[in-house]
Amino acid sequence: MPPRKQIYFDCAASTPVDPRVVAAMRPFFSVQFGNPSSLHTPGRAAAAAIDSARASIAQFLGCSATEIVFTSGATEADNLAIRGVVAASTLRRPHIITSVIEHPAVLETVRALESEGLARVDYVPVGVDGVVKFEAVKKLIRPTTVLISLMYANNEVGTIQPVRDIGKLLERLNRGRAQRIYLHTDAVQAINYLNCDVGYLRADLLSLSGHKIYGPKGVGALFVRSGVKIKSVLHGGSQEGGLRPGTLNTPLIVGLAEAVKLLRPQRDAAVVRLLRDQLYQQLLKKIPKLQINGSFEKRLPNNLNFSCTGVEGERLMLMLDSAGMAVSTGSACASGSIEPSHVLLAMGLPAWAVAGSIRLTLGRGTTAAEVNYFLRSAPAIIRRAQDVAWRAREH
Ligand code: PLP
Repeated sequence: MPPRKQIYFDCAASTPVDPRVVAAMRPFFSVQFGNPSSLHTPGRAAAAAIDSARASIAQFLGCSATEIVFTSGATEADNLAIRGVVAASTLRRPHIITSVIEHPAVLETVRALESEGLARVDYVPVGVDGVVKFEAVKKLIRPTTVLISLMYANNEVGTIQPVRDIGKLLERLNRGRAQRIYLHTDAVQAINYLNCDVGYLRADLLSLSGHKIYGPKGVGALFVRSGVKIKSVLHGGSQEGGLRPGTLNTPLIVGLAEAVKLLRPQRDAAVVRLLRDQLYQQLLKKIPKLQINGSFEKRLPNNLNFSCTGVEGERLMLMLDSAGMAVSTGSACASGSIEPSHVLLAMGLPAWAVAGSIRLTLGRGTTAAEVNYFLRSAPAIIRRAQDVAWRAREH
């Protein structure tokens, strides 16, 4: 029996590959399969497809094609950006500033560098709104700071961070500094809806991932502004100017570029915001004491992260799943663990709100009918989850 169609409200975890992306990738598996480093005709055909993919992504980001490095995803892009800048620094233990709400791809990388004695790190806190304060970042800058890594939008609560403000600040500060401070932003969640032009942001490094933008999994890219001092973290061939050795994965790269070409941030934001706002307004009416987590205003238009009293998020997520609705609690990217979310904890939410949080992330395929189905069925399921939790506590 084919699986029942789930209503999918987990686009921050992954998105379906757009059929146009699948079609663009298809020839590069078995027909145009040459190694793009080979000089013969099949190799040159693959290299040409990669050149064209690189140009498309560069056009979207407002940079030059030579500034795009293909990776296996955003985890690798984040690792390369951070480790690469530290490795290229002439300082003994360069200083990095990041935030407490970064994705593990950034947080674990800087923690590893700290424990290896290769860098000093400051973690900017956030308030209950889930947004880093510009002044808090500014205050942490030291003479040895080489990198600020600040995500553009958070993957759990969708809050939008002041990346452009930091970029403008660094533009001014760097004029008088011998040691430039680079700005890295993980734009994985933002790229669907926000302006990711690297000139607008003043970013030096920017990470993106295929599977969050209706492209394939296992591919991503790092924008590296020309002139940024960065070293490869892998050893091998001379692909990607030596920054990322390894045979380029032509079909995935072509798919990533096709997905980027299909992005319409402004239009998609307007459409999804309408549905998300309707969902939120109705949920507020139907669920007593529903609490939105993080700033509602400074948030991606597809994200709703809320908590209900007396509910275990994990149990509620499974109950909704059984009723045909895929949502998430905490971050599905964080290894499927049921550890309390580091983001909600960092925001200082009370224990009940951390334990009872649910994330809904809408996407390109979300329909009004799906939103209405959720509104009709979820309130009763939430009440049942509250009953179950209450009875469990009584025993
Ligand atoms: N950064 C953010 C903000 C994410 O949401 C994710 C999602 O998993 C990643 C990085 C990792 O991306 P990838 O799955 O391409 O390694």
